[in-house]
Amino acid sequence: MEPTNPSTDPTDALSSVPAAGARRGVTPTGRLRFFFGPMDCGKSTLALQIDHNQARQGRSGLLLVRHDRSGTPSITSRMGLARRAIEVHEDMDLCTLVRTHWSQGTRVDYLIVDEAQFLHPAQVDQLAELADDAQLDVYCFGLATDFRSTLFPGSARLFELADELNAIQVEVLCWCGHPGRFNARVHDGDVVRAGDTVLVADTAATTEEVRYQVLCRRHYRTGDLGPTAVDSRQLSLT
Ligand SMILES: [Zn+2]
Repeated sequence: MEPTNPSTDPTDALSSVPAAGARRGVTPTGRLRFFFGPMDCGKSTLALQIDHNQARQGRSGLLLVRHDRSGTPSITSRMGLARRAIEVHEDMDLCTLVRTHWSQGTRVDYLIVDEAQFLHPAQVDQLAELADDAQLDVYCFGLATDFRSTLFPGSARLFELADELNAIQVEVLCWCGHPGRFNARVHDGDVVRAGDTVLVADTAATTEEVRYQVLCRRHYRTGDLGPTAVDSRQLSLT
């Protein structure tokens, strides 16, 4: 148990990263947060920044990732940062995962979950349980909707359960200059709106003809990819 701090700085309430233990004098539970945005909006960079800030304050956390494509599970940002992470499998119980670390003497104050859209809804319930009963702060990062503009099941459950929902502020723009909110799947120059969902983030399975492009709602609807349709940077997610 960490000692509670009765002289809590009121400005901590405005900080997304409170000092270790300080906020626990105010509320006995952890918080479940979901940071969401389209591809290329800097989710993984923010995930690593939050991990860095937490660790610098002496807190100990676990980094989790779902559907890692590298073979060596990690959270990797476009800025070139990378940290090893634990791959979350579909049937993994996240409460058991944390308890296992406790039993090995590892303190766990927070969890950072990248590609959280791929979590099974039951795993999101487990994250809520960890926030409530184990006082963990849980930071989830992911896409809200898939290429069909439909919520991922894991994201839907996060919208239902999270204490905080944060639309990531780094705006990704459609080719027209409007905010891009939709992750369009493009096959041979056409926007595809039906098909296998998992392919949306499985770049290993991406063929020459299939790519992803962030579009505003109007151009997602109309399927207009703009004058310079090809942008290889958007071949992968996050
Ligand atoms: Zn547009």
